Amino acid sequence: MSTKVRVRFAPSPTGPLHIGGVRTALFNYLFAKKHGGDFLLRIEDTDQTRFVEGAEKYIIDSLIWLQIPYDEGPDSPREVQEKYGPFRQSERKYLYEDYAKTLIENGWAYYAFDTPEELDEHRKNHEEKGKTFIYNWHNRLKLKNSLSLSPEEVQKKLDDNEDYVIRFKCPQDEKLQLKDIIRGDIEIDSNILDDKVLFKSDGMPTYHLANIVDDHLMDITHVIRGEEWLPSLALHVLLYRAFDWKAPEFAHLPLILKPTGKGKLSKRDGDKLGFPVFPMEWKDPKTGDVSRGYREDGYFHDAVINFLAFLGWNPGTEQEIFSLDELVNAFELEKVHKGGARFDPDKTKWYNHQYLQQKDNEMLASKFVSILGEQGVNTNLEYASQVVGLIKERADFVSDFWELASFFFVAPDSYEEKAAKKQWKENTSEYMNQIADVIIGIEDFSSENIETVVKQWISDKELGFGKVMPPLRLALVGEMKGPHVFDIIAMIGKDETVSRLKKAVETLG
Ligand code: GLU
Repeated sequence: MSTKVRVRFAPSPTGPLHIGGVRTALFNYLFAKKHGGDFLLRIEDTDQTRFVEGAEKYIIDSLIWLQIPYDEGPDSPREVQEKYGPFRQSERKYLYEDYAKTLIENGWAYYAFDTPEELDEHRKNHEEKGKTFIYNWHNRLKLKNSLSLSPEEVQKKLDDNEDYVIRFKCPQDEKLQLKDIIRGDIEIDSNILDDKVLFKSDGMPTYHLANIVDDHLMDITHVIRGEEWLPSLALHVLLYRAFDWKAPEFAHLPLILKPTGKGKLSKRDGDKLGFPVFPMEWKDPKTGDVSRGYREDGYFHDAVINFLAFLGWNPGTEQEIFSLDELVNAFELEKVHKGGARFDPDKTKWYNHQYLQQKDNEMLASKFVSILGEQGVNTNLEYASQVVGLIKERADFVSDFWELASFFFVAPDSYEEKAAKKQWKENTSEYMNQIADVIIGIEDFSSENIETVVKQWISDKELGFGKVMPPLRLALVGEMKGPHVFDIIAMIGKDETVSRLKKAVETLG
């Protein structure tokens, strides 16, 4: 590729960013970085009726949390904005009208004066006959527009400030040959297209016009976006032709499907099955409703990136764990799948589990220490790090640590009933008292040495491990779970071990 690759993520700030949107941002980022190009964030806020307070900040904060930085965006420094900015369409609105008028002058667009009521009437009449009303070549001369009215009538309406829209004049009887990097060649019959509105008399362009003008002015080379925009591709390609601009290449990413594989993944699926569909928590500014987010649910940003990358793409090898840099290297748009990508909440957890195993124990412990604080436990980072090292293989999230490790910090206050019945037999109390004495006598209190001494004692006494080890665990932990018993003993120390043994004898004996 000779020209520099430039791609953009162009969300509309109409609410929190769905993970499908995050994946679009990610694929744009990966493609840009793979080709040494630029990744832009452009806020498409031309539809003021759908504007939601806080949504733009949410989008930016999500990209920051996920660590997929853009090279140019609405909050970039002025030097960066100078050439291609501003990056908010509402701040570019002075630009679009001239472009719409150019299209009228060149015969590619026209004024339309049909009122919303008139259009509704047409729609209703069509519906009654079982048809759909499409504003295009087959009826445009029967409707109220600058193609059907005389130039004087049109001028009069404009002078009278009548409301109008500018519509694109879709060509008739043409087989449009479109290209999509992921989907290959697509042929569309131009006769099925409607004359889309490009500009409204309130001075605002519609998505279609603003999107094409901006992609052109921002030197965008590749448009990578969700499949829901595929139906707009023909119009967009025609707009480039109408302006006599070189069109970028297009790639439409597959939908993210519900866990059942049927239909698009929605917030409702997440609510029902208990997983987030947003990167971060979102509080609706109108209703105050809070939607959960991956960040607050304890997911690591790199795990989220990794599972999103695999929604609709894979490298064609067995490798599943990829850092962002590795993804940049491996990513190819040609390998993105055509079919929808089924979302699997268990797989997302699996990813978090894998990433948790790779994380530094001390970093994890620093998060754990604050959870411990909430439980009223004061501890030091070193001890907490060692505990984390012993239990993390069973954890998916830092929030699992307390459940998995509370006995490293506090003695059990009860003993699981079934286990107690099964493990605490007639002589158990006596054995536990004797083990307490053995433990008091151990000098080298490393896990290995405690194990050697205790096991030796069991053999010498010819007791069998089954009589001693399970009740020993029950006394220390309160139930039959946890890592290696001797690791627990070494960690909690001699006094605490002995005290727990005595307490169990008192309670269960
Ligand atoms: N503003 C559109 C959206 O919200 C952008 C679509 C595109 O990338 O062209 O998804």
